[in-house]
Amino acid sequence: MSYVIPFGEPPTLDVLGTDQRFPVRRIYCVGRNYADHAIEMGHDPDAEPPFFFQKPADSILPSGGDFPYPPMSKDVHYEIELVAALGSGGTDIPAEKALECVFGYAVGIDMTRRDLQAEAKKMGRPWEVGKAFDFSSPCTRIHTVRQLGHPSTGAIWLKVNGDTRQQSDISHMIWKTPEIIAHLSRLFTLAAGDLIFTGTPAGVGPIVPGDLIQGGVENVDEIKIQVA
Ligand code: MN
Repeated sequence: MSYVIPFGEPPTLDVLGTDQRFPVRRIYCVGRNYADHAIEMGHDPDAEPPFFFQKPADSILPSGGDFPYPPMSKDVHYEIELVAALGSGGTDIPAEKALECVFGYAVGIDMTRRDLQAEAKKMGRPWEVGKAFDFSSPCTRIHTVRQLGHPSTGAIWLKVNGDTRQQSDISHMIWKTPEIIAHLSRLFTLAAGDLIFTGTPAGVGPIVPGDLIQGGVENVDEIKIQVA
C-alpha cells in the first residue's frame, strides 16, 4: 500500500515473552467503575451505572517513559487502571464468552486534564479535551492470558514520589471485565488490538512536573512514568 501523505505504523505495546508486538487499534475507557471513585467525584454509584469513552490509539505512552505535562491545564490527574487487551472481538458478545476475546492484560494510567474535564461536564460538552490528549495513556507491556490467566482480584495501587495515593483491589470493580466487554460490544464492534481501561479506584489527584508516578496491579505488572 502506498499513501499520498506520510503514514506510519500503528502504535504498539511490548508483549512479555515474545519479540512480536501488540498493535493498538482503539482505546476504550470505563468511567466510574469503582464506587469509592464515583463518590469522590460527586456521583452516586447506585444511581448511575458505568459508562464509556475513548482515547486515540496514539495516546499510548510506554511505561518507563517521560510524560510531558500537557498544555492548557493546571490540574492533571492520574488514574491507575487494569487494562484488558483484546485478541479478537465482535458484536453482542455474551458475558459468558467475553473472556475468550482477551489476549492479555496490562497496567495503565488514564491521565486526565481534570480542569478541562470539569468544564466540559459543566457545559454539557464532550470529554475529549480532558481525556484524549497526547501521551494521555501510559501503559505497561502486555502479559498474555496464557501467562497470567484472567485477574479478577488483587491489589491496585499508585504512588506519587513514594507516597501512596490510590490503594484498592480490582475485585471492587462494579462491572467486571466480562461484563465490560459484553456492554461495549453492544455499542461498538470490538476487534483484535482494542485496549480497555477498566476504571480507577478512589484517590485520584494532581501531579506536577518532576513527579515520579508508580503504580501496579498485583500479579499483573508495575508502571512507572516521570512527569516532564
Ligand atoms: Mn479512568
